[in-house]
Amino acid sequence: MLQPEVVAIVKKLLKGYYSKTDVSPSRIERREFGFGSFEKKIDFRHVSFRNGIDFKRYLVENTPAFINCSPSEYERPDARPMENKGWLGRELVFDLDATDLKLKCQSEHGTDWVCQECFDGIKQQALHLVEDFLVPDFGFSLEEIKVNFSGNRGYHIHVNNEEIFRLDGNARKSISDYITGNNIIAGSFFPTLDQRGTKVYGPKPTDFGWGGKFARSFISALNSGAPALQELGIEQSLARKLERNKAEVILGISNGNWGKVTIPKKEEFWNAVIKRMAVRISDPIDAGVTNDIYHMIRLPNTIHGDTGLNGTVLDSVKDLQDFDPMSDAVVFSNGTMKVHVKKCPGFSMKGESFGPYEDKDVELPQYAALYLLLKRVAILKG
Ligand SMILES: [Zn+2]
Repeated sequence: MLQPEVVAIVKKLLKGYYSKTDVSPSRIERREFGFGSFEKKIDFRHVSFRNGIDFKRYLVENTPAFINCSPSEYERPDARPMENKGWLGRELVFDLDATDLKLKCQSEHGTDWVCQECFDGIKQQALHLVEDFLVPDFGFSLEEIKVNFSGNRGYHIHVNNEEIFRLDGNARKSISDYITGNNIIAGSFFPTLDQRGTKVYGPKPTDFGWGGKFARSFISALNSGAPALQELGIEQSLARKLERNKAEVILGISNGNWGKVTIPKKEEFWNAVIKRMAVRISDPIDAGVTNDIYHMIRLPNTIHGDTGLNGTVLDSVKDLQDFDPMSDAVVFSNGTMKVHVKKCPGFSMKGESFGPYEDKDVELPQYAALYLLLKRVAILKG
């Protein structure tokens, strides 16, 4: 439980933020909303608003800790059960969460904490999804893609495009399957693989879709050297041999000739390549955001109740590379607060380093204190 005085402080800050900031989504009258408290992320849903003025008044009066909104649009967004809402269509949405990366650092700091490595890893996944899938394979333009920080551990990606608006859950599942490499059959890219004595033809790096990804990924592993090839499941001796003949092998693959690559355990190898190239939204709940037309997601530009950080919307996808959540998503920076930190790793906010702390009284800038209080690793000192 958060201390009542912490809840009071944060609610006051939220009131100030929502009275000054317009966070209304487009076509607000067709959206379903859900709200959560500091103790329960999704407390209730099936709420709707006629316009942005009513919505703003609600947020200022109630200061919810979590604000969720449907990427779907409905004729009657407050009707229930879901089938009675009259579904009209939905954005294509992806929820990328650092927890899904299963990074080594997470076994040290736990999944509630997010370190720089987690932030960097999930940013790479977001760029990978946009640059290697959404733009080249699906043909979406950068103008149709909006990226926002989730407010805690990752990024949300919204695609607004007329052609995908009406797609049902099954079609959406095909899209997330493609992106996560689910049901991709590698053998189909190597038509002569089973024929003895013939040349092994396979995909070229310039090929469209997964074929090109295979070829490019393999070449990139070759260029990184034997250890990268071993990560793909190739035995050490073969990896070294491939590395020695790198130039020749790459030249072959560039022309679709894979004859120089002898791979004993093909099935495992291709699966490893797919895993390396796929976007990791493996958590079934996160895939639900993409596939389930009734799933809600945090409203962009609202404050996350577990961090005090903003779900900042980036002006353009190009800004993602330089985006630093621990600086750019900070909104509350008024003075300092005294807290007692139970335990937390070192972290950096707005270019300043803090901690690590253990059982220690410290006076921190408001944003850093709120971050630790809402992450439940510190308590407020009177
Ligand atoms: Zn980490």
